[in-house]
Amino acid sequence: MKHTPRRRFGQNFLVDAHYLERIVASIAPKVGDNLVEIGPGMAALTRRLIARCGRVIAVEIDRDLVAHLRAEFPPEALELFEADALAFDFASLGKDLRIVGNLPYNISTPILFHLAGFAPRLRDLHLMLQKEVVLRMAAAPGTADYGRLSVMLQASFAVEKLFTVPPGAFRPAPKVDSMVVRLVPLAERAPHIADAKLFAALVAAAFGQRRKTLRNTLAPWFDAAGLEALEVNPGARGETLCVADYVRLANAVMLKPAAL
Ligand code: SAM
Repeated sequence: MKHTPRRRFGQNFLVDAHYLERIVASIAPKVGDNLVEIGPGMAALTRRLIARCGRVIAVEIDRDLVAHLRAEFPPEALELFEADALAFDFASLGKDLRIVGNLPYNISTPILFHLAGFAPRLRDLHLMLQKEVVLRMAAAPGTADYGRLSVMLQASFAVEKLFTVPPGAFRPAPKVDSMVVRLVPLAERAPHIADAKLFAALVAAAFGQRRKTLRNTLAPWFDAAGLEALEVNPGARGETLCVADYVRLANAVMLKPAAL
């Protein structure tokens, strides 16, 4: 397959067989799995997945790559959608989906938020991202990497860092280290969030100005006494609260009587 990598589509192709095999081993695909690959590119991973379980669904935005992929694989082996993963309705693919992908790094955060919206339909996700992004996804409260991305993803998924992949494993080589991460939906262990939009807005506000205290950042919803009543220190900053604290705050807003 001949193709000139397109930077606008974040094309850094994984070519190192060692890392490709490690990703496949982490996924442990089985015949009958509903594997959905985002951005199959030149099919380095796709080929291995099809060899293991016979059938893969994929979403690829690059028309030239789609043409190559259609030429290499019959539709029974690769069900291919020429589409933007950011706008793709993953619910249309059914349930128990196993998402895999070496994501385009320029849009990795929006893709993660988009996928999180389908959490109940997913069995798991194995993704390669910029290492720095994975560290933020998996970060614990009180650490420098902990932020909006950590809270939003950990509210829906168990996040497990798997291994680092160096730039030399790709063509062209990216400037940064990459990391493979596994996300497993919390399902019935997920906290009950009464209003997902409100939860997202509150978390975004808490981390919007990292130096400000919660008394300031959460002022649209609570005064200092209101925070204290929920056992939250108004003088603390957003990075000190855990996911459960954010859920408690957002759900409490829903229970507040409307102002007269
Ligand atoms: N999976 C291949 C590999 O590991 O070598 C390619 C990885 S490359 C980092 C990202 C792939 O995602 C490319 O094939 C690119 O064309 C595709 N892509 C970029 N933006 C996309 C989008 N919005 N929707 C779907 N695919 C996209």
